[in-house]
Amino acid sequence: MAKYTLLKTEGRAKRATFETVHGVVQTPCFMNVGTVGVIKGAVSTEDLKEVGCQVELSNTYHLHVRTGDQIIKELGGLHKFMVWDRPILTDSGGFQVYSLADIRKIKEEGVTFRSHIDGHKIFMGPEESMTIQSNLGSTIAMAFDECPPALAERSYVQNSVERTTRWLARCKDKMAQLNSLPDTVNKHQLLFGINQGAVYDDIRIEHAKRISEMDLDGYAVGGLAVGETHEQMYHVLDQVVPYLPQAKPTYLMGVGTPQNIIEAVNRGIDFFDCVYPSRNGRHGHVYTNQGKRNLFNKRYEKDMRPIEEGCQCPACRTYSRAYIHHLLKAKEMLGMRLCVLHNLYFYNHLMEQIRGALDQGRFADFKKEKLDELQMVSREKEEKAKK
Ligand SMILES: [Zn+2]
Repeated sequence: MAKYTLLKTEGRAKRATFETVHGVVQTPCFMNVGTVGVIKGAVSTEDLKEVGCQVELSNTYHLHVRTGDQIIKELGGLHKFMVWDRPILTDSGGFQVYSLADIRKIKEEGVTFRSHIDGHKIFMGPEESMTIQSNLGSTIAMAFDECPPALAERSYVQNSVERTTRWLARCKDKMAQLNSLPDTVNKHQLLFGINQGAVYDDIRIEHAKRISEMDLDGYAVGGLAVGETHEQMYHVLDQVVPYLPQAKPTYLMGVGTPQNIIEAVNRGIDFFDCVYPSRNGRHGHVYTNQGKRNLFNKRYEKDMRPIEEGCQCPACRTYSRAYIHHLLKAKEMLGMRLCVLHNLYFYNHLMEQIRGALDQGRFADFKKEKLDELQMVSREKEEKAKK
């Protein structure tokens, strides 16, 4: 059902379209993270369209424990529930099982853990994760995997990755079955597999080869941005991406800064997601081409300029730094909301600029200019800090 069309390549960088039942995604694309079916910071689905969001990302684990995927299915699925008609990607819940829940036990069948909300016991394996994601009816479901810590022992990672491959086969079978049922919310649900292997090149490459043979709808690189350096992350991408099918979308999970995204596009990644823009926005930290600003800072008290001059986001079109500073100080929700809207727009607009550069065959120049600009900013900050 999905159709991935490569429009341009430059080095390993890809510019493509990804057609789904919920519309066409232009890649490279940043997915906006709405953990419980909403972007934190009082952002509505109308807002998401305004800030140029193409794909919304929701969280399987969080929706399973509250309000419950069964109820969402009864109400017609997540698209209808949150009133969003563009693509939704749901993660598998795997990452949250390892990062949030305590008392977990990993077995071949799956993982037993306790809910971080009320402590009740939950079992989740490949079949459970696929069922929950099918109940939500997302456009793209992620395979259920184990995300071993970046610094885990080699033997642990080896065993974990082998189990993740077996789990992937079970995910694929389960999804085929779920998609064929008469009452399934989205019978065209797509499945992305996830490459793991921590920082062990050979384990990652072997795993990439194995999952590439499984003919999935897309391929993610997982287990990064969990404590390794940026250089280690880029190194893993350099090693792994060449072994993933070029004719399928690639997704770097949980990454990252504008610099990380530009570097990863250069290494062949199509999809990104990260909580940075919304989380930073909620704390009054806004992204601009001149670096990050903290709008709580007193220097913005009388500054009547928008967050970023020329920015077309809903916040910058209307409001000043001074007013937003005031709202943040007064703990008014609108202050937080405007910062989140600006940051999401900034990320989505960055992707638009990246796609434009690829379309024109000038991504290499764009990358250099943009990274120089961003580096210049951090240099200025360092100099200021010294004074
Ligand atoms: Zn703006």
